[in-house]
Amino acid sequence: DRTPVTVLGLGAMGTALAEALLAAGHPTTVWNRTRHKAEPLVARGARPATDVADAIAASRLVIVCLLDHASVHATLDGHAERVRGRALVNLTSGTPAQAEELAAWAAAHGADHLDGGIMAVPTMIGSREAFVLYSGSRHAFQDHRAVLEVLAETHYLGEEPGRAAVHDVALLSGMYGMFMGVLQSFAVIRTEGVPATTFAPLLGRWLSAMAGFVDGAARQIDEGDYTLDVSSSLAMQAGAFAELLHATEERGISTRLLAPLGRLLDRRVADGHGDEDITGVLELLTLDHRKD
Ligand code: NDP
Repeated sequence: DRTPVTVLGLGAMGTALAEALLAAGHPTTVWNRTRHKAEPLVARGARPATDVADAIAASRLVIVCLLDHASVHATLDGHAERVRGRALVNLTSGTPAQAEELAAWAAAHGADHLDGGIMAVPTMIGSREAFVLYSGSRHAFQDHRAVLEVLAETHYLGEEPGRAAVHDVALLSGMYGMFMGVLQSFAVIRTEGVPATTFAPLLGRWLSAMAGFVDGAARQIDEGDYTLDVSSSLAMQAGAFAELLHATEERGISTRLLAPLGRLLDRRVADGHGDEDITGVLELLTLDHRKD
């Protein structure tokens, strides 16, 4: 497959995308606001575009990977008449509303639009671990799927432009929850003088053992029944969590990350759900509960 591809934006991620395309043999045209960032790619066979217009003209598939939504418009707005008939694949992180806005902009100028959420860091691009969530034009996805697979495993989520961005928010929420827990864990163990690298295997093993929570919670949520397969009741966990907060403060470590969860556990118990699973806390996360 020698499909020509254009990459707009050669930051850490755009550079990794262009490298993967070059490695797969695609004629790759690259553009970056700060021109010298293209040089290593040009040394590997990329064609440097003279400007954005030239970059867009070079390929029917135009991959955009810039800092944010504002930089995408700053780059494309002067060239709206040139995108007609092309597929714009925007891998810049953004909100669902921004994806919808860009889809409407592309449609108004005769281009197909796909929004992509990259679930990888640049070093993972082109490897089996990387995946990208796509939503938007189905036929743009079908036409260009083979090229997009060069970058990462592809997951097409449907025509609604914002759908990939919602998935991205959900997945990153899980990731940041894990990051918070890991940082809290290391903060506590450091008070005991245990090196983080000594403790890490135990922490990794424990988190892997607890990863089964994902599937168990999912079944409860879809059934709408938080009493299914409860092995640790919410009442028990709320009590244990209060002890954990005490022990944390006794070690001189802040509970500012954990305390909000404690309040939700207590609230759920007070509402009469003590014999259910912790999963029911989900019901307290809609903004109707903002006043709490
Ligand atoms: P970088 O900060 O490395 O690169 C940012 C890019 O945006 C550069 O090419 C920069 O150009 C360009 N840019 C910024 N502002 C403008 C502007 N006003 N006009 C034109 N170009 C502009 O970021 P990354 O490459 O790491 O990230 C790119 C996107 O990929 C982001 O949306 C990020 O969220 C997403 N992403 C990144 C991941 C990562 O791990 N890095 C993981 C998943 C998604 P210049 O060189 O001239 O400054």
